[in-house]
Formats: sequence, structure tokens, C-alpha cells
Amino acid sequence: MQVVFIGPPGAGKGTQCQLLLEYLRAEHISTGALLREEIEARTDVGKQAEGYLSDGHLAPDHLVLEIIRHHIRDAGKDRGMLFDGFPRTIAQAEGLEDLLRENARPLAAAIELTVPEDEIVRRLSDRGREDDKEEVIRNRLHTFRDQTAPVLGFYRDRKLLHSIDAVGTTDEVFNRIRACVDACGQKAG
Ligand code: AMP
Repeated sequence: MQVVFIGPPGAGKGTQCQLLLEYLRAEHISTGALLREEIEARTDVGKQAEGYLSDGHLAPDHLVLEIIRHHIRDAGKDRGMLFDGFPRTIAQAEGLEDLLRENARPLAAAIELTVPEDEIVRRLSDRGREDDKEEVIRNRLHTFRDQTAPVLGFYRDRKLLHSIDAVGTTDEVFNRIRACVDACGQKAG
């Protein structure tokens, strides 16, 4: 089963993504990690993407989609895929839709973790890092929301969006996610 996983900074996405990967035995497709690998390996794609990552900007859609295209083509058919940090734009969401259709690997769900802004600010402030000042945190959050809002709408229109309340213990939140993917998996067959 193919799942897109979306969560703002501080929503516990890393932990929940790991739990879901183990539960689904899916392949982890993180565009951030894949882009960093391309950069380290000094590939053409890596060289083109490098500047964007170091400036904190999104890499161009065509580069990200090229990486994803190879991964979907090479992915084992017996395992699902969990997309993490992707898609970040409508063009990427459309590109993914086409690639999944070409490879007969339909998307079962786009799962969004939701946490009220004040709760995120409180959680990240508790970490006490220099870049975790309240104003900086709110800016990062707004940037995330501005960028992902259209992608959420894309999946909402296709009735694939599931918003999961990410306030609670790790187990409580994961139980909600598991119930959601179980229901979506049954529907997808
Ligand atoms: P991440 O590890 O997901 O936080 O991504 C780290 C950096 O990689 C981001 O700041 C972007 O520069 C780039 N990146 C990761 N995923 C994408 C994507 N789907 N589209 C464009 N750029 C991306």
C-alpha cells in the first residue's frame, strides 16, 4: 500500500513515520534523504540540487520527480511505499499521481498529522535549541503551512486526505494512524 505522510515540524512525524514503516513493512521514500545522497555522491542531480538545500529552499520539481521516478520503478512490488517529505508542491503531487498510475501502484491515503500551533511552539521551545526561538518556530510553521496547504487540498479533493490528531502519547497517536491505514487498506483491497 502506498501512503503519503505529512506533518509540520514538531508533530512527531519522525517517530510516527518509523512506526508506520515497521507496521506496513513499506519502503521509506524520503526526498530529503535521497537528495542528500545524490549530493554526497556528486551526481548530476545532486550538483543541481545542492544550492537549494544549503539555502533552505525547495529543490526544483523536475529534479525531485526524477529521483522519485527511479525509486518507484525499482521498488519491490511486494512492499508498499511510504512517502515522507514529498510531495511538497502541486506539481509534485500531480507528478506522483501520474507515476503511480503508470506503475499500477495506487495511493491509499495521504495522512496529515495535526497539532495546534501553540502546542508545537511549546514542544519545540522545550528542546531549547538556538533556532527554536518562538518567533523562528512560528515562521517555520507558517512556511510549512503555506507550502503544504495546496497539497492538502489536492488530496482532499481526491478524498484521500486523512487528518490525524497528533496530540497524545506516541502510542495513542500511532493507534489512530494504524486504525486509519487499516480502514484505507481494506477499501483499497
Ligand atoms: P527534509 O529532510 O525533508 O527536511 O528536506 C531537506 C531539504 O531537502 C529541504 O529543505 C529542501 O531543500 C529539500 N527537499 C526535500 N524534499 C523536497 C521536496 N519534496 N521538494 C523540494 N525540495 C525538497
